[in-house]
Amino acid sequence: MKVLVINSGSSSLKYQLLDVDTRVLIGKGLVERIGLEGSKLTHTKDGEKTIIEKPMPSHIEAVEYVFDALTDENHGLVKSIDEVDAIGHRIVHGGENKESQVIDNELKEDIKKWTKFAPLHNPAGLLGVEACEKIVPGKPNVAVFDTAFFSSMPAKNYMYALPYEYYQEDGIRRYGFHGTSHNYVTRHTAELMGVDQKDLNIITIHLGNGSSIAATENGVCINTTLGLTPLEGLVMGTRSGDIDPAIVTFLMDNKGYTTSQMDDILNKKSGVLGISGLSSDFRDLEDAADEGNERAKLALDMFVQRARKYVGAYMIELGRVDAISFAGGIGENSDIMRQRILDNLEGFGIEIDDSKNNGLRGKDALISTEGSKTKVYVVPTNEELMIALETVEVLQK
Ligand code: AMP
Repeated sequence: MKVLVINSGSSSLKYQLLDVDTRVLIGKGLVERIGLEGSKLTHTKDGEKTIIEKPMPSHIEAVEYVFDALTDENHGLVKSIDEVDAIGHRIVHGGENKESQVIDNELKEDIKKWTKFAPLHNPAGLLGVEACEKIVPGKPNVAVFDTAFFSSMPAKNYMYALPYEYYQEDGIRRYGFHGTSHNYVTRHTAELMGVDQKDLNIITIHLGNGSSIAATENGVCINTTLGLTPLEGLVMGTRSGDIDPAIVTFLMDNKGYTTSQMDDILNKKSGVLGISGLSSDFRDLEDAADEGNERAKLALDMFVQRARKYVGAYMIELGRVDAISFAGGIGENSDIMRQRILDNLEGFGIEIDDSKNNGLRGKDALISTEGSKTKVYVVPTNEELMIALETVEVLQK
């Protein structure tokens, strides 16, 4: 089956056409500046780029030109639209216990409802869905939610210890994010091990600009570090992760910050950027730390420390950990961060083999020693493939 995966932003739209049976990427593209001057579509087939510059006042024209590009005589990926079996849409927030599903009017209303917790992402995702409904009517559209992977979390892990009515009335609870990535990495780790996912306990560590860790027990996710919003948990590029919530009210009272200023501080000015005062990019921080920059060192130490805290918590929660897998820009590329996060855990049966880890970048690999009870992997994430796989699974249900 061929699935078109669409990740629609408010003024951009990324797409990939994938053959789900062979897991091969057939081609991809990006539309930029939708609704703005200078809209353009960059379509890539066999590494060759074609740029189409046309006015695209809305997502409808963008999707129209995507389908034109997909079926173009010269740079197209299929002969006819009929060859595209379904469209899988990345939708960030699916709300409570929502699994990925075929999109109908009721689901669209639901996606709108959860806009309150994903104000930028859910409306943008819906624009992509509605454009596809208009341009290729009758083609199945499937919503693959970033939150779906966490719908199996038990209440003791998703509830906040706040008055219960905030959960009942407002849906204040932990939802988790990066689910498509954790889902793919968990599944692919099991494939690399040659063991059924249902028989494995796995910790997945997604480290990028946004970072999170998830714990999967017998193939089902039981906990993760991101919460109501993608702000909780690990120290991130520009996000604070866990802090004492009283800091927020203290700063608002004492500095007179508004809610939107506070939001900006926690989401865009904190994390390793806030601590180092230098950069949110780990390559810059690793270089600066090597040159003796104390605040860059502190930022990296805090990042490592927080990640170790959650790895430890999930080890205890799972009891037995069969594998730990690293993904995301940092997890896939930084041997130093991987080594530091799992350093000195031999007593717990976790040992990285430096000869396998050092210099390893961006490919599937086992990086633990033969004697390590818990296998440690690097698994480059592939969210588009996961969305395509889930789209097919939803349609076959
Ligand atoms: P992502 O959000 O998954 O694209 O990840 C972005 C992060 O990965 C940035 O902080 C980059 O600095 C980091 N990254 C990418 N390549 C490397 C590398 N070779 N070493 C360390 N960090 C890296």
